[in-house]
Amino acid sequence: MRFYKTCLYCDKELIGRTDKKFCDPQCKSAYQYQQGKEHPERFYNKVDNQLKLNRKILKEYNKGGKVILRAELLKEQGFNPNFITHYWKNGKGDTYLFVYEYGFLKKRENNKEKYVLIKWQEYME
Ligand SMILES: [Zn+2]
Repeated sequence: MRFYKTCLYCDKELIGRTDKKFCDPQCKSAYQYQQGKEHPERFYNKVDNQLKLNRKILKEYNKGGKVILRAELLKEQGFNPNFITHYWKNGKGDTYLFVYEYGFLKKRENNKEKYVLIKWQEYME
């Protein structure tokens, strides 16, 4: 474990707990804002990596036909349903979320969150 003796943002000496990195939440958010501006590719890479992981997980479980899984199962592997590439609404108003060619529909069954997995079809364009 690393110990910081001065604030990472303003360089002021830190008092109290020695594992603190910033003097206050203001310095912390100012530091994070600065880091984000200096390294914009970090956000791009983060999103890119999550999309790749999501696609890999969906692909692994999408064995064709109609697959219904517990959402928990995918989340345990690192799946994050907030990172998608596009969506498709069917005639019934169900919204399928897609990560490239692999899609999923959120569904509640017996009070448990589930995903119905599908693959992108030409008629969805
Ligand atoms: Zn500070």
